[in-house]
Amino acid sequence: MFSVMPASAVRIRDLRKTFGSVEAVAGVDLDIGDGEFFSMLGPSGSGKTTVLRLIAGFERPTSGTVELAGRDVTGLAPFDRDVNTVFQDYALFPHLDVLRNVEYGLKVRKVAKAERRKRALEALHSVRLDGFEARRPAELSGGQRQRVALARALVNEPKVLLLDEPLGALDLKLREEMQVELKTIQRRAGITFVFVTHDQEEALTLSDRVAVLDGGRVQQVGTPAEVYEHPATEFVAGFVGTTNRIGDVCVRPEKLHVRILGGGDEDGTAPAGEPAGPPGDRHAEGTVAEVVYAGAVTRFVVDLESGDRVVALQQNLAASSMEVTRHRGARVRVGWQAAHEFRVAGAAPSTETPAKTPN
Ligand code: ADP
Ligand code: MG
Repeated sequence: MFSVMPASAVRIRDLRKTFGSVEAVAGVDLDIGDGEFFSMLGPSGSGKTTVLRLIAGFERPTSGTVELAGRDVTGLAPFDRDVNTVFQDYALFPHLDVLRNVEYGLKVRKVAKAERRKRALEALHSVRLDGFEARRPAELSGGQRQRVALARALVNEPKVLLLDEPLGALDLKLREEMQVELKTIQRRAGITFVFVTHDQEEALTLSDRVAVLDGGRVQQVGTPAEVYEHPATEFVAGFVGTTNRIGDVCVRPEKLHVRILGGGDEDGTAPAGEPAGPPGDRHAEGTVAEVVYAGAVTRFVVDLESGDRVVALQQNLAASSMEVTRHRGARVRVGWQAAHEFRVAGAAPSTETPAKTPN
């Protein structure tokens, strides 16, 4: 049976952009699927915005190509590309009301007035801003402004929506609400999202796939689980989540189980209030340097005999879990599953004694 592979929504080949002596984008290849929620995650200065501007056409590459739906658009102006951009500062027109802000793109494209109005109202409805048509941007909250910016992009029904840290200006609670909304809107509209963020949690929560950038290069592309569970480089392991180095392997904090020693119950269930859990097939012993109770979880910082300091996150399942904080200074056994170990390229094997692995 023959089938034709659909062209990628966005295809980038050996893309480079230098500003003077700065190599902002240093040879990027990406294939972003149709309808995918794709994130570019990286620290400030890693080249995320420049890649986005190259896709949009606001910048011309020093070399390399950009294709949209199989068409080479490298030499085309922004308005000849089927993409829209939502910027971090929203870039709304302050003197226009909400409805006119949203209609603007259609007006430029000479869509008839009645049609323009109908589509603008639909777009405002999709971001839950019915009734706000007559307001000016200054009369809106940050979250509402953000949604106007989104409606203004969605109204053009672009194949690809580029979003440059669109939630960066919002406070935490609103940001989390908008994350859920963005995902819903993206799924419903079936638009390809290319979403830029420096927030690893945001990228992992929202994305079908994530590209981790550093120094203008893609360090890894994968699903959130792939990037988190199997980071390809030491940079990715360090940037995406917290990584414990134990001897020559790495283990994530939530994969470590902490058992308090000396309680007379070292091999069975932990006493009430103490973190229990399967011992795992790897063990190391050490001393609790710090315990922080954080509501849903407790964070243990443990100095292992090997000299490695590790962080272990334990879910607070027991009612008396706040009592765990009394374990500062306690001897503990840290256990984990061998299956949860990973190694990263570029990570020099530790010269410390390896963690004890009985059996
Ligand atoms: P990010 O969005 O990941 O923070 P940018 O793409 O904005 O990163 O920037 C990548 C690098 O390119 C940075 O070192 C930045 O200073 C530089 N850069 C970006 N735009 C310009 C420009 N217009 N002129 C000079 N340098 C720039
Ligand atoms: Mg940026």
